[in-house]
Amino acid sequence: MAALLELKNVTKVYTRGVLSRASTTALNDVSLTLAENEPTIVTVAGESGSGKTTLAMLLLGFIAPSAGQILYQGQDISRLGGAARMAFRREVQAVFQDPFAVFNPFYTVDHLLTVPIKKFKLATSAKQARERMEEALTAVGLRPEDILGRFPHQLSGGQRQRINVARALVLKPKLLVADEPVSMVDASLRANILETLRGLQKNHGVSIIYITHDLTTAFHIAKSIIVLYRGSVMEAGDVDAVIKHPQHPYTRLLIDSIPWPDLNRRWGETEIKAKEMEQSAQGSGCKFLSRCPFAMNQCVTPAPLFRMSEHQAASCYLYEQYPQVHSDQLTELLPV
Ligand code: ADP
Ligand code: MG
Repeated sequence: MAALLELKNVTKVYTRGVLSRASTTALNDVSLTLAENEPTIVTVAGESGSGKTTLAMLLLGFIAPSAGQILYQGQDISRLGGAARMAFRREVQAVFQDPFAVFNPFYTVDHLLTVPIKKFKLATSAKQARERMEEALTAVGLRPEDILGRFPHQLSGGQRQRINVARALVLKPKLLVADEPVSMVDASLRANILETLRGLQKNHGVSIIYITHDLTTAFHIAKSIIVLYRGSVMEAGDVDAVIKHPQHPYTRLLIDSIPWPDLNRRWGETEIKAKEMEQSAQGSGCKFLSRCPFAMNQCVTPAPLFRMSEHQAASCYLYEQYPQVHSDQLTELLPV
C-alpha cells in the first residue's frame, strides 16, 4: 500500500505564554496512513476541544507536530522542496466550516475559482480555465450557468459551501480535509452536501477526512471512524460497528440514545471515585477518567486499544480480554 499521507506518532502540544508552564496536549500519539490508490472517507469525531481541528491543520501542513512525523508520499512535509511542495499544496486541500470565510464580497465566484487555477498554472488558456471551473461546479452539483458571474451575496449558504468544495476540487486534489463542512449549513441541505462529498470519493477518486462533532452525519458519509477525546483516540473502526455498537464509555456517551449498562454501582459513588482517581493520576491517566462511570483503579494509566473485532477497537480496560493493538496499527482497524 503506497501511502499518500502518513502520520507517525504525531503529538501536538500548545503552550500558552512564555512564562507560564500551561500547556495543552491537543493531539496525543496519533498514527494514521491514507493510501494513494484506495480513496476512502474517514470520519474524525469528538466533542469540541478534542483536537479535531488540530489534526486537520497538521494534515494540511499549516502547523508542525511537537513530536512525530508527517510524511507526504514518503517525505517529511516540513522538508518538501520545490515541485514536491507544490504537489502537496495542490493535492491536499481544505474545506472549512465557515462557507463565508473565503469569499471576498467584491469578487465574483469566477475570481474565487480562477485564483487557484492561476496559482498552480492549471490552464493554458481562458477557455481551459473556464472548462475546469465548470467541471468542478458540476461535480459539486451546481449548474455553472447559474453560478458564474455571481457575487457572494447572491448565493445561498448551501451554494457557498458547494463552491468552497468546488474551489478545492479545481485543483484535482487527492485528499480533502473537511473540518465540520456542514455545521454552518442549514440542516435541510446537509445530507445533500454530504452526498456530494461521497460522490467525489466514488467518482473522482478523492479521499476525504471528514471532521465532525455530529455522529449522525458520520454515518451517512464515511466508511470508518476515529473517535477522539481530549487528543487521544478512544475508539476506531468501521463506522457501522462503532455507531451501532459503541464500546468505549465515551463513544456511548456521544451516542446518547444508547442506554448505559447497569454496573450495580451507584452513580454518586463512581463519580467521586473517578474524580479522586483523576487527581491521583495527575492528568496522566485515561483522558475520560473524571467522567467515566466505569472508572477502575487501572485507569490511572491510559489503556491501549483493545480489538474486539477486525474493524473495531476501544482504548478501555473494560475490553482487556481482547488482543491489544498498538497505536501505530490504527489504520488496520479502518475498512477502506
Ligand atoms: P476541536 O477542533 O476538536 O474543537 P481543537 O483542535 O481546536 O479541537 O483544540 C484542541 C485543544 O487545543 C483545545 O483544548 C484547544 O483549546 C487547544 N488549542 C487549539 N488551538 C490552540 C492554540 N493555537 N493555542 C493554544 N491552544 C490551542
Ligand atoms: Mg474544530
